[in-house]
Amino acid sequence: MIYPWGHKRRFNAYSEYFRSTFGHRVQKLSIDAGFSCPNRDGTVGTGGCTYCNSEAFNPSYCQPHKSVTQQLNEGIEFHSKRYRRTDQYLAYFQPYSNTHAPLQHLQKLYEEALHTPGIVGLVIGTRPDCVDERKLDYLAKLSEENYVIVEYGIESCYDKTLKRINRGHTFADTVRALEETAQRGIKTGGHMIFGLPGETPGMMMSEASVLSELPLDTVKFHQLQIVKDTIMAEEYINRPEEFKLFELDEYLQHMADFLTLLRPDIVIERIAGEVPPAFLLEPPRWKIRYDQVLQKLEKLMMEQDLWQGKSYKNKM
Ligand code: SF4
Repeated sequence: MIYPWGHKRRFNAYSEYFRSTFGHRVQKLSIDAGFSCPNRDGTVGTGGCTYCNSEAFNPSYCQPHKSVTQQLNEGIEFHSKRYRRTDQYLAYFQPYSNTHAPLQHLQKLYEEALHTPGIVGLVIGTRPDCVDERKLDYLAKLSEENYVIVEYGIESCYDKTLKRINRGHTFADTVRALEETAQRGIKTGGHMIFGLPGETPGMMMSEASVLSELPLDTVKFHQLQIVKDTIMAEEYINRPEEFKLFELDEYLQHMADFLTLLRPDIVIERIAGEVPPAFLLEPPRWKIRYDQVLQKLEKLMMEQDLWQGKSYKNKM
């Protein structure tokens, strides 16, 4: 069976979406352009999100002292030698909040990336409270000629949870940012975490219909993992009963059921996260690689004859 997204996989997978958008494989190159986070530098707050350990969110390949061009060229050289599967790349402004700076500074960095040979677009990770009209108008202009996607940390659709994890913004901020971005013709992405404290499996499942109402092009899902040296690690040690840390089989069933409720045109970029074991409070619960997690999910969906959007109410 060919699904509405044009292939046989049981969900609208990112790799196929890229192939159909660009006609071939495109590699994302993570760069650290030296941004900070408004939830850490005092603009919104100072403590940061309770699950965030800035070390764990700042991978070793990120070197903000190097220019954007240098980081991209090094990334291209690495990938072209090692994988030789593509000669087209996206500049992924990843750590912290990559729109948290004056517009002029953003223009300089984004345009430097787009002028680097081999770079065919931008992926910009940020918070919903970190964009404004001028920045979005500028990004809209850039996206007329380039692939540009703004990825927002949504994390939860519940204000109670957002408050508890000290996100420093509300769900209404997320809706506003996504709408204002999409209205301008800019692609939008979202990031969600399953298992945040205080959320029941039913609450998490209900988020499928909420996300389906949003103008989202892509979404990444992560299972909660407790990172060392965070406020959440202390909470977990003191009150473990308030957390839902998924075992692998349970998470696969959760994802399979969740996807059946999700709007079919939302592209699934990731179904789970991978925190390096050295940063985890406890040994990893799942002892398999991400590609194996994906394979298991697809097998489960096949066995149960499930597919993304199978139970989506407003069928397209
Ligand atoms: S917004 Fe991102 S970088 Fe900032 S504290 Fe939260 S998780 Fe960490």
